[in-house]
Amino acid sequence: MNRLLDDLNRAQRLAVVSPSLALQVLAPPGSGKTKTLTARVSYLIAERGLKPWNIVVCTFTVKAAREMKERIKDLVGDGLEKKLVLGTFHSVARRFLVSYGHLIGIEKNFGIADMSDSRAIITRIIKRQGFSIEPGSAGARISSLKAKSVSAEQYGVTRKAAEQEFSIVYAEYEEALRTSNLLDYDDLLLRCALLLRQHPQCVSNIEAVLIDEFQDTNSVQFELMCLFSQFKKNVTIVGDPDQSIYGWRNAEIKNLERMEKRFPGTDVIHLEENYRSAGAILQSAQQIIEQDESRPTKALKPTFGIGDRPVLRKLPTADAEAKWLVAEIRRTQALSAELLKPNDFAILLRSAAVSRHIESALGNSGIPYRMVGGTKFFDRIEVKMVLDYLRVINQPDHNDALLRIINVPTRGVGDVTVKGLIDEAEKKGSTLWNIVLNIVQGKARSNTKLSTQGLKGLTDFVNLVLTGQKKITGTGDQQASPFELVEYLIKKLDLSKFLQKKYPDDYETRWANIEELKAQTADLTAAMAQGKQFIEEEVLPDIEGLEQRLINANEDALTVFLANIALSSEAQRKQEENPDETQQHVTISTIHAAKGLEWPVVFIPACYEGSIPHSRADDIDEERRLLYVGMTRAQALLYLSCPNKNSQSGETTMSHFLTQRGIEAFFETQGPKLYDDAVVELARTLRRDQPALQQLIKARSTYETPEDSHWPIDGTFPKSENTRWDQGREIESKEGIYANKRRR
Ligand code: ATP
Ligand code: MG
Repeated sequence: MNRLLDDLNRAQRLAVVSPSLALQVLAPPGSGKTKTLTARVSYLIAERGLKPWNIVVCTFTVKAAREMKERIKDLVGDGLEKKLVLGTFHSVARRFLVSYGHLIGIEKNFGIADMSDSRAIITRIIKRQGFSIEPGSAGARISSLKAKSVSAEQYGVTRKAAEQEFSIVYAEYEEALRTSNLLDYDDLLLRCALLLRQHPQCVSNIEAVLIDEFQDTNSVQFELMCLFSQFKKNVTIVGDPDQSIYGWRNAEIKNLERMEKRFPGTDVIHLEENYRSAGAILQSAQQIIEQDESRPTKALKPTFGIGDRPVLRKLPTADAEAKWLVAEIRRTQALSAELLKPNDFAILLRSAAVSRHIESALGNSGIPYRMVGGTKFFDRIEVKMVLDYLRVINQPDHNDALLRIINVPTRGVGDVTVKGLIDEAEKKGSTLWNIVLNIVQGKARSNTKLSTQGLKGLTDFVNLVLTGQKKITGTGDQQASPFELVEYLIKKLDLSKFLQKKYPDDYETRWANIEELKAQTADLTAAMAQGKQFIEEEVLPDIEGLEQRLINANEDALTVFLANIALSSEAQRKQEENPDETQQHVTISTIHAAKGLEWPVVFIPACYEGSIPHSRADDIDEERRLLYVGMTRAQALLYLSCPNKNSQSGETTMSHFLTQRGIEAFFETQGPKLYDDAVVELARTLRRDQPALQQLIKARSTYETPEDSHWPIDGTFPKSENTRWDQGREIESKEGIYANKRRR
């Protein structure tokens, strides 16, 4: 018990042991909300005797999920932690659907349509119908209707003629998912809610429900939370209204009030101290969030010393900005290669679209990096191609995956033939796979004309898929793992040669992606083999009259593997799963995907009007909160920057969030405050623990900017002869810089 509460402050402990059935922990960034939630889960198991499989936890990041598991393992012993019903809303919903979906007519081996699948289906429908609506906005509208539980039929009957196009797209989209036995992200949540409403006994065992990042739950997720907890009504949520950044995905900040109404007697606990960031970082972040006058005043209270003011820089061009940023990473790294590792750096972007310059600058300098939340690894053409083969092997009804690969590599099945196949499938109300199979096996007459070469190509294709299927349905040692299947495909498709021919210029990169895919498949295969050992009878309630099914237990490895991939963009799986030293990399992430995380050094480039706030955003306050979330990810050093010109729109103006009156006093605008000794010191300390970081920031409280704060953009930096430290001085005495800036 003591161990459990050891490193928590008083308010955090209160929250952990609170006997309240309904509890809200509301607190600013870095105040230990996720840590507290983790401790409460452990406490419920270790002290209150709850069984992990009776606890539902929805976390936003895999990091939080992993920490939670580690702690529980620590406290209550190996194995139990794996039995928590733990994951993102989507993955938890999926688990219920796999186990009990048959009760509402969902076929067991359903696949998941991720964002790009959905987009492809919608685009295809629009093209075929000759409509002029934009696929992206149609997709967003469908999603938002689904979030409000408005079905295609309901929508269709109430619409005027002008809306007809969209309502046809919506209806056909739903139909396409149905025939391919796919659920999209929204469906996972909605169908799970439907299931739990109609068959509440599926959650009769759930004793506690805990939700992280509650400010970003939408109304369906809120509904799910209520449904999970319908028997014991034991709910803990943690969140921060100032960090609500998913309005565009129909998150509803009103859920806090709704919770109080739904769960009378909800207790609220506030946490105050920030354990993440240096004081100067918090002060600058506070300046941003306070520009929203409508929000209640809340101060960020540092537990660290003041540290260095964040750097705010203007650079001539986006290219120069990228070079400057990379030079700064190199400089700090060169000084401290042993101590400050690539993993300690993050570059956070409002939109992944501006990453090009930065990626190429990092690439040129040989700094390893990884993109999160941008073009996903699994969406890269060559990776997606292999995955599409896996999808079709797993689920031949997956029309869209099949369409993408039917003639890749080229096998003489041209566009006209493909169109013929699609028409025929539609006419006969059949799936593409069945049409193709019939043609190859000569079982039914087909109107689709094929050249000899085309027929041979299709036959090869069908054989490849059928052999793959045999491999996964084999028993015992005969059964191929996803990893073995990937190897089989690479060989069968002669992928290396295909990529060499098709992409002579960047073959190496593409092949490296395939290697990476192999490595990831191997990892996942191993993890799944391990996980299976822990699936036991007790995981789900024994419901009378229901066949008792085990979570994942009856699924084959390939289905689980593909579901993991489909859900991974939601959970940023890859980025956090390999913190080990050999996989060191600088993280490039969207700010959205960085929620809940922290890094010693954070860069936020491209801070100009149109980027942040984004030109297409309609909620300025949300854009401001986004910048706030980004800034509060930094522990010790924060750099914001803005190019005078960008490649798309030419001249830029710095984000108005950063040009408010008086704000410059909170930033270092002239040059770097960090010089060599300081960097070494900082790096050394970062490798130790949090208190050491605190010591360091305190020690560095103030030191003067050298006169020559020249900061060239070509990557050469001044030596540090004139670094001076003034230990222990209070912030107010620092030439009055902060003295008159405290507001309210
Ligand atoms: P966010 O709003 O960004 O999600 P959060 O409130 O969830 O932030 P955590 O991520 O839980 O904050 O904690 C931030 C950092 O502070 C973590 O490194 C955590 O380990 C540390 N921390 C939290 N509470 C304490 C404490 N009482 N003592 C020492 N360190 C703490
Ligand atoms: Mg958190």
